Amino acid sequence: MLRTRDCGSLRTEDIGASVTLAGWVDRRRDHGGLIFIDLRDRYGVTQIVFNPETSSATHEVASQMRGEYVVQVQGKVAPRPAGTENRGLATGEIEVVAGAATILNRSETPPFDINQDVEVDENVRLRYRYLDIRRSRVRENLMLRHRVIKYIRAFLDARDFIEIETPILIKSTPEGARDYLVPSRVQPGKFYALPQSPQQLKQLLMVAGIDRYYQIAKCFRDEDSRADRQPEHTQLDIEMSFVEEEDILALIEELFTGLIGEVKPEMRVISPWPCLKYDDAMARYGSDKPDLRFGLELHDLSDVVAESGFGVFRDTVVGGGRVRGISVPGCAGYSRSQLEELNKLARSLGASGLVTMALSDEAAGIAALTMEQVKSVAARFLTIDEVHAIAGRLEASPGDLMMIVAGEERLAGRVLGELRREMGRRLDLADPKLLAFAFVQEFPLLRWDEEVGRWDSEHHPFTAPRDEDIPLLDSAPEKAHSKHYDIVCNGLELASGSIRIHTPELQETIFRLLGYTDEEIQSRFGPLLEAFRYGAPPHGGIAPGIDRLVMILAGEETIREVIAFPKNQNAVDLTLDAPSAVAEEQLTELHLRLRED
Ligand code: ASP
Repeated sequence: MLRTRDCGSLRTEDIGASVTLAGWVDRRRDHGGLIFIDLRDRYGVTQIVFNPETSSATHEVASQMRGEYVVQVQGKVAPRPAGTENRGLATGEIEVVAGAATILNRSETPPFDINQDVEVDENVRLRYRYLDIRRSRVRENLMLRHRVIKYIRAFLDARDFIEIETPILIKSTPEGARDYLVPSRVQPGKFYALPQSPQQLKQLLMVAGIDRYYQIAKCFRDEDSRADRQPEHTQLDIEMSFVEEEDILALIEELFTGLIGEVKPEMRVISPWPCLKYDDAMARYGSDKPDLRFGLELHDLSDVVAESGFGVFRDTVVGGGRVRGISVPGCAGYSRSQLEELNKLARSLGASGLVTMALSDEAAGIAALTMEQVKSVAARFLTIDEVHAIAGRLEASPGDLMMIVAGEERLAGRVLGELRREMGRRLDLADPKLLAFAFVQEFPLLRWDEEVGRWDSEHHPFTAPRDEDIPLLDSAPEKAHSKHYDIVCNGLELASGSIRIHTPELQETIFRLLGYTDEEIQSRFGPLLEAFRYGAPPHGGIAPGIDRLVMILAGEETIREVIAFPKNQNAVDLTLDAPSAVAEEQLTELHLRLRED
């Protein structure tokens, strides 16, 4: 080894020891006589002193060192002179007095400061990711990620799970996104698809009798990037045989609770995790991934305002829509422009508008509220009884700002759900040290895809309908619920999974319901259906997203901060410059020609 110790480990116990360190020059201070170098590696920083009187040749080497040079230093560990200790640094009590030093490699001036935690444009950070990782932020996130995966592996190993790799060049398996395709050279005109998930393969492993499988799996989905989404992500893919929903959920709750206790003991988890039905989550939070760290629940006002003098409310209810609202504590004093901003947000989400009612904090209570104490454009169309009833339903207090949206049921819910999130953010209602996990269950089996005019799976087509809803598949498929479940945490979807269909008959029924022709069923899913004819056990699984999990644990806002080499928001790998053009010969070999249009 070119070193005997690392740059983070020397302490007062080591005083007097001869050591060899190697690392990067974090900082160099030339005090005329003495030169100080802070030597950095991934374990920490150690101060090295070069004294011209002890060794002038070594001092001369030090005088040539610059930031980010890679150097090796031999020397003796010594106490720092009294008064110069640095209590903020793990190695701050000691220094190494250099006896010999070698410059192992030079460095150009880096494009950004590595020894300071300064804001740097993300695209610059990604282009020079290898320098960015030298800084502490991403490096610590990667270390956390490593510990998370290590814990998961040990946990599952202790419970008889086997880690099995599945191929990356496969056939399309639908998860609701576009496929990344790979052209075949040896089979002209044919393509592999990169897995959107190993879904069908893990189910085949169940047919194969591997009753407990997992994999830290890469998944590829060609969809627009967002803070919590990029073209490829990693998930903990799990599948189990002979289980019911509760078995899988209990396993994950135990895994995550133990994991957080190990890697982030300072964070609080609410135990046991609450279970929400999808319909209740939508009704109470306007979202199937609610942030449960705060209340601000939605309430339905449709019955209260069905006969209101305010046409917007009345007509919506008569037309089959809903009027729903939330009450935000202490925001009655919002200015015109603040209200306009919220109104804009509501409209941008598709609402025709947002009705606000500010309740003066001078009222002795809701029952005592007078019309003069209500500030709203709707006030003159409403009676004070109606206002009392609305405030009562929204559990409002004097000083609150009530926000009401009228419209089609899902839309009103979604808009208010977003307003709820926004107000939670503005009022800082979410405790950053709290992890509010929950299970969401009983999702609808299908959703109507307006664009193509047909049913689509809410999860994926392998999800089992609830037993009692199977008769609905013929008569009213829109009413059927499924054995699909999600895990949500702090407003993010952290995992999705389901109990699967395991008979070929039911699986074919679902494919037909989704509009696949017999030929399509055969060509896309033939192998799975065939496998189901050879004794497929009842099975189910789940797939928590590793990037999102680590993002939450690291307190980061985007998954790019916890991925070593992420794509940027335009799906570009700036470190290696991909995607990029390829040579004409490569296209020819792949039997491809680029189109002009
Ligand atoms: N394959 C699913 C997904 O990627 C997870 C599952 O159903 O296990 O979302």
